[in-house]
Amino acid sequence: MDLVQINHFIGGQEVGVDATSRFETINPSNGKAYASVAHGDASDVDTAVANCAQTFAEGAWSKMPPAERSAVLSKIGDIILTRINFLALLESRDSGKPIINARRDVMRASSLMKYFATLPEIAIGANFSEEPGYHSYSTRVPFSVVGSIVPWNLPFLFAAWKSAPAIALGSSVVLKPSEETSASAIEFARICIDAGLPPGVVNVVLGDGKTGAALVDHPKVEMISFTGSTYVGRKILQAASSRLKGVHLELGGKSANIVFADADLDKAVEATLFSSYWNTGQICTSGTRLLLADEIADEFIKRLSVRLRDADLVGDPSLTTTQIGPVISKRQFEKVQSYISLAVEEGAELVFGGNTPTIKDCEDGFFINPTLFKNASPKMRVAQEEIFGPVTVAMTFSSESEAVEIANSTQFGLAAAIWTQDIARAHRIAEQLTAGIIWTNCINRIRWNIPYEGHGVSGMGEDLGVECIKTFSKLKVNQINFSGNPNVSFPVSA
Ligand code: NAD
Repeated sequence: MDLVQINHFIGGQEVGVDATSRFETINPSNGKAYASVAHGDASDVDTAVANCAQTFAEGAWSKMPPAERSAVLSKIGDIILTRINFLALLESRDSGKPIINARRDVMRASSLMKYFATLPEIAIGANFSEEPGYHSYSTRVPFSVVGSIVPWNLPFLFAAWKSAPAIALGSSVVLKPSEETSASAIEFARICIDAGLPPGVVNVVLGDGKTGAALVDHPKVEMISFTGSTYVGRKILQAASSRLKGVHLELGGKSANIVFADADLDKAVEATLFSSYWNTGQICTSGTRLLLADEIADEFIKRLSVRLRDADLVGDPSLTTTQIGPVISKRQFEKVQSYISLAVEEGAELVFGGNTPTIKDCEDGFFINPTLFKNASPKMRVAQEEIFGPVTVAMTFSSESEAVEIANSTQFGLAAAIWTQDIARAHRIAEQLTAGIIWTNCINRIRWNIPYEGHGVSGMGEDLGVECIKTFSKLKVNQINFSGNPNVSFPVSA
């Protein structure tokens, strides 16, 4: 079977490369190569960046009146919805996401564009009361070219998410999707053009970490917006420091999902099921450290296991009945398997899963059953390190202070959930947790108008909401002297 050809997208069109600069991408549900992807080198990155820089300087987008920019962003959201069937199929084949999961991501990308369509029209800046004879004001100015480097777990959604704030503010963006999932970023760029975004505002260069590193290193890229692992985030921060670029990092997590004895257990069980296993557990904010109060731990594990057993979640991602698909790659499959073995070696008790199912028509796919361990201890590596697969590790606590201590005992600080009916306790615990987002009696709730920022090694820089304007623009101040006297002279008198 001929492989699908996926090429860079620069200046409003596909840009191919010769056969020696390509790599194959695998469908995770059957382990077979289905596409040949252009592999960008430093010169492809340079072409994309130069085109973005020129587009920015010419001003067709960067100087377009805000209302017109809003209309284009909103239209991108509209077009995304009209192509949902196509996009969901594409995403499912590329990432192994079940269709229902891929459709939800595409819908969220559309609503995200609608939210960011409101950003250009927000009047930003301030006036300052000053000493007599002066008036000062501030405004925010966009970075010229932003490099957006994104992971494989939400490919289409992140293509939109990590471009939208930058383009809303007038920047041009070079997007570098993960080498595991190249297809949908190109479709995002195509939709942008169809919605009226000038060519060269969103360019896409495909490739691996080396391609990403070339983007970080490019002198004309003023800011890097990165979503991915803490390991690569550190490398990017170091590389960007030599040119003092703006850097926004959304990194890994190992979020605590804390259930107190007074919680509504059935609701907490359902939410845990979703948080731990949706997207095959490949979500940075998944509550994969399940902290259970001693009194309800056995009952909670029992109810969760029954739901896991009865729900029949894993299957062929092309079926609309499937909730959990394969993990992204053979490498990730092996990594998750090794963490499952490690959990057993470390003495955690396997309650559910831990094995691989055989799925009809997907025999060579990278499937792992949803897996639950109990009686883990907080210091175990499986309780400390991000697994990024369908594996949840449960621990118990006997007091509020112990719950907080365990929750805060990792280097991460992305998110945490608290389940209790005692509102004072909920606030007390939230006040003490090291996490950028805390959910009380809800979990994995991300709203485009509510900002967040990773704490610890989970990130830096505010995302979403109007707060992201600070992250994606630079402050500029003008001090105006209308006193008629510059008030400085040289030499300075004592
Ligand atoms: P990754 O860090 O391996 O790769 C992410 C991207 O960085 C890819 O596009 C990759 O090609 C690129 N890259 C790799 N090395 C690079 C380098 N030296 N310079 C520049 N770019 C480079 O992450 P992944 O495995 O694709 O994704 C999983 C990780 O992403 C998990 O750790 C997860 O927690 C994290 N994540 C975080 C958030 C968040 O909002 N905090 C959201 C989703 C995923």
